[in-house]
Amino acid sequence: MHIDGKAAKAASGGTFDVYDPSTEQVIATCPAAGAADIDRAVLAAKRAFYEGWKTTAAQERGRILFRLADRIRARRGELAELETRNSGKPIVEAEYDMDDAATCFEYYGGLATKINGEVLPVPADAIAFAMKEPMGVAGQIIPWNFPLLMAAWKIAPALAAGCTVILKPAEQTPLTILKLAEDFEAVGLPAGVVNIVTGDGPGAGAALVAHRDVRKIAFTGSAEVGRLIMRGAADHLKRVSLELGGKSPNIFFSDADFENAVDGALFGTFINQGEVCSAGSRVLVQKDIYKKFVDAAAAKAKTIKLGPGLDRDTKMGPLVSKEQRDRVAGYLKIGAGEAKVAAGGGVPRQFSTGWYVEPTIFYDVDNSARIAQEEIFGPVMSIIPFTDEADAIRIANATEYGLAAAVWTRDIFKAFRVVRSLEAGIVWVNHMQPTFVEAPWGGYKSSGFGRELGHWGVEEYLETKQVYINLDEKPIGWY
Ligand code: ADP
Ligand code: MG
Repeated sequence: MHIDGKAAKAASGGTFDVYDPSTEQVIATCPAAGAADIDRAVLAAKRAFYEGWKTTAAQERGRILFRLADRIRARRGELAELETRNSGKPIVEAEYDMDDAATCFEYYGGLATKINGEVLPVPADAIAFAMKEPMGVAGQIIPWNFPLLMAAWKIAPALAAGCTVILKPAEQTPLTILKLAEDFEAVGLPAGVVNIVTGDGPGAGAALVAHRDVRKIAFTGSAEVGRLIMRGAADHLKRVSLELGGKSPNIFFSDADFENAVDGALFGTFINQGEVCSAGSRVLVQKDIYKKFVDAAAAKAKTIKLGPGLDRDTKMGPLVSKEQRDRVAGYLKIGAGEAKVAAGGGVPRQFSTGWYVEPTIFYDVDNSARIAQEEIFGPVMSIIPFTDEADAIRIANATEYGLAAAVWTRDIFKAFRVVRSLEAGIVWVNHMQPTFVEAPWGGYKSSGFGRELGHWGVEEYLETKQVYINLDEKPIGWY
């Protein structure tokens, strides 16, 4: 771990194993943090906040963020390879993640000097203003699907705001952020400003959520754990931001560019092995192109090259863990009883090791089926037919989630009407998944609340202080 500027073991001496999902071999052993370690990290973060970071000039905080970005770019190859070995994802995708992580640090390095308040025209002889201040110590808990990138999304805005951080990576994928932590002091981060603690959810995560000196919890993960975190944060009335799951609709009207649409459906669902919170796993297709669409999507899905992520021609790697592979395989069984299979549907037989599943397409799926309502977090697409625009919107919104959605059409009026009707925090037109650090990220409904990225991301770490300066020297004279 990385606590108070130094490598650290767990106080209990406990450890857990970290795997390569393509070989099923242990590639690292990490400390299993418990409440005592969280306490130590929070103490360090608290001291670092009050003894300096809070009042460190924004320019200086920004420069440190730029240098972190430079370190990621300088170590891109090494970090991407480690990310692939630990998460299973194709190396080409890991390289994109490293670039995005560096860009995120650069964006917030620039934003650090653009956090400012407002002067308010109050009706008195006074100057009133609202100023922004960092909240203090932030606890951050992230998932395993984009390990270093999710760490960047969390750490960068918190540091730009002037907060100090305790970040807990997912127990499956702690390696890249620990690798980057080797450079924290070299880029000028004072000890204790960013602490990385490793461990599982109930042991380390819950202790972080419960700690009285942590002012804010930022979480990305499952809706189930999101609920636990919100309850845990209630005792000390901590601020919470939650980016939870989704079951995002990807809507294809018959006037969409057909070839591009089929590609877009596959990309929307299968990128990163489908281990994506915004995966477009409900594919809604208009009836007049439905059969042709199912056939074309199935034909293309069967050509997706599975393999170890380090092979440059691999398009889909193994899932992150045996647990996740078994979970997804469970849904393949459920789906076989609820709908028809157009492609995949099982665990591929050509690999002697690795937690692979076949890219799978179910069709004739009813929107009330479990495979249409529950987040699977694997390469599983459910195709659902619809008749017209109203039908598409009704089905699209018939879910507890509201993270993302996409609509494909050449009709600009229809596109905008659908955009306006979708209950989702992110909506794409004629694409699905591209997102950039400048734009807000987060969901409606059970997909959580709060927004990451852009200026929204930094707001999550700021308090607002009202200041009133009386300019009237006359006695108040009330009593
Ligand atoms: P998954 O089940 O797919 O691993 P989770 O939502 O359980 O997704 O995990 C996301 C992150 O939340 C991980 O870092 C995990 O350790 C953490 N986590 C899991 N359970 C809890 C909990 N009860 N309290 C705090 N963090 C938790
Ligand atoms: Mg879990």
